[in-house]
Amino acid sequence: MLAAAVFGLCPECGAKTLFSGVSRFSEKCDSCGLDYSSYNVGDGPAAFVTMGVGALVIVLAILFDIAARPPFWVHVIIWIPVTVAVTIFSLRVAKGLLLIAEHRRGAGEAGGRDLK
Ligand SMILES: [Zn+2]
Repeated sequence: MLAAAVFGLCPECGAKTLFSGVSRFSEKCDSCGLDYSSYNVGDGPAAFVTMGVGALVIVLAILFDIAARPPFWVHVIIWIPVTVAVTIFSLRVAKGLLLIAEHRRGAGEAGGRDLK
């Protein structure tokens, strides 16, 4: 499941069609026609990723500072690109994981049927 999210594989047929951009979903699978736009992963991934990446980068920055005692500008040129890259990649994986999880559980938008 993690590999499927990392490589952007379709949860139905396994074709590499899940993403059309770096972290944007395609409309539907070109291979089997599964409609990705019917899944709504919302802002959940962004919140998880922001907290997770923030914590990770701070821990790494502190460890690096203790180990190497670099000047401040070294931190700036290292951690800004690292943060951006890790955030984009993590967002892609988190969104993929949520969509695949939704697909496997057969979840869709709550349309009121569940509440009766
Ligand atoms: Zn497919």
